[in-house]
Amino acid sequence: MAGMAIAFDNTFARELPNFYVARLPSPVRAPRLRFFNQPLADELGLDLASQDESAMAAIFAGNTVPDGAEPLAQAYAGHQFGGFVPQLGDGRALLLGEVIDRHGNRRDIAYKGSGRTEFARGGDGRAAVGPMLREVLVSESMHALGIPTTRALAVATTGEDVHREQLLPGAVLTRVAASHLRVGTFQFYAARGDVDSLSKLALYTIARHDPELVGAAQPFLGLLRNVVARQAALVAQWMNVGFIHGVMNTDNMTISGETIDYGPCAFIEAYDPAAVFSSIDHHGRYAFANQPRIAAWNLARFAETLLPLIADDSDQAVALATEVIAGFDTQYQRCLLRGQRAKLGLRRAEADDGALADDWLSLLHAHHVDFTLAWRRLADTADGIDAPLRALFADVQGLEAWLVRWHARCASEADSAPNDRAQAMRGINPLVIARNHRVEDALAAASDNDDLAPFDRLLAAVRQPYAESAAQAPFAEPAPAAVTAGYRTFCGT
Ligand code: AMP
Ligand code: MG
Repeated sequence: MAGMAIAFDNTFARELPNFYVARLPSPVRAPRLRFFNQPLADELGLDLASQDESAMAAIFAGNTVPDGAEPLAQAYAGHQFGGFVPQLGDGRALLLGEVIDRHGNRRDIAYKGSGRTEFARGGDGRAAVGPMLREVLVSESMHALGIPTTRALAVATTGEDVHREQLLPGAVLTRVAASHLRVGTFQFYAARGDVDSLSKLALYTIARHDPELVGAAQPFLGLLRNVVARQAALVAQWMNVGFIHGVMNTDNMTISGETIDYGPCAFIEAYDPAAVFSSIDHHGRYAFANQPRIAAWNLARFAETLLPLIADDSDQAVALATEVIAGFDTQYQRCLLRGQRAKLGLRRAEADDGALADDWLSLLHAHHVDFTLAWRRLADTADGIDAPLRALFADVQGLEAWLVRWHARCASEADSAPNDRAQAMRGINPLVIARNHRVEDALAAASDNDDLAPFDRLLAAVRQPYAESAAQAPFAEPAPAAVTAGYRTFCGT
């Protein structure tokens, strides 16, 4: 298209010709741009200034394919709720191509909801506007919290209805990711015994995400080690902000270490390790506290795909891979504790810090205290302002005993003045997360009444999670208990 410059450089399309099906997006009736992420567009160096509104809408609804894009549906497999599905793939998504961003990092640009592909199975290839705006809100919230995540570049409505339990307005999301390589991508080829393709895929992945391993003695074991390290760090960050992914199938776990696929996800409110929000997670497989265990399980599935590349002798390959997978838990615990220490306002490591954090979480659990607000109000306590924290507890006896220990531990770092501590804690313990009731309200207004104003207000709030102001205050409040108790999110359709 004239005037538009996206400098695509499509290594996946070029280097892995047998790993996808080329496919154009299916045009839609009446494209309308409803969300555009200008800061992200700037970061990507996209030159869209000369595009008028209808041209932008046409691009981000899939009616106009930008010059240099080579749209394709990627093949992948995956374990869904523990059961292996040998062929999933992009049923309603298309990779447009890759760009190099302002920091020199390669990023995928992809559509979601752009029509059926060879991998669509029974699906319609489409997406409803609510779930696409949910992905925007939650992924922007995660990004603002400093958690690796895919980003949302745009949402365009299609002017067409999609058939779900009811008719809903359709939309296309444009997603940006470090890559769309998943554990399930490797599983697709492993399940077919196609070692040659696996090797090509692993070498491509190493060149893209772990270039320091090029030419290493054990590059594939190194890849496994790096993916384990990235996921241990990622899931620890989830746990420290109370994020529940909701559908940690192996096709929804990236090799890059970014959070991907915002379906039935949610932030926890009253702290409960057993919390499940997803309407399809009947057995609580992906409950909050299970997430590290599930990550390790998924990584073991990833390790299995790499075995033929790790060593010719299969016993030796298993022994080497097992050792790496066994290291997940230690790395996860280390990352978790490092994060907890910072949340507690502590700078040095001491032996009892883990117990101090655990006992704090037990208190929140026992008293059904809001996870996000409790951490935030603990920062006020570091400033000598106790009332807001105490107000979160119906009974403060346990809290008081714990605070004595915490104050003593803080005093052991006497060189950091209380005010610095409170400030540091407010810079890491968010005031505003994408709260479930706020998200639902915003999506309902957009979907039912075509009113994006609540979405825009919530988006602005979650993009400044640490700011405390009158404007932020309503978004910091938990939902009335009755709303939270029955909360369910529905799979990202
Ligand atoms: P997800 O639950 O979004 O991770 O998707 C799981 C699989 O189902 C992927 O292969 C998707 O491409 C496919 N899928 C989900 N929704 C649709 C749809 N409406 N049309 C076609 N494929 C879909
Ligand atoms: Mg998925």
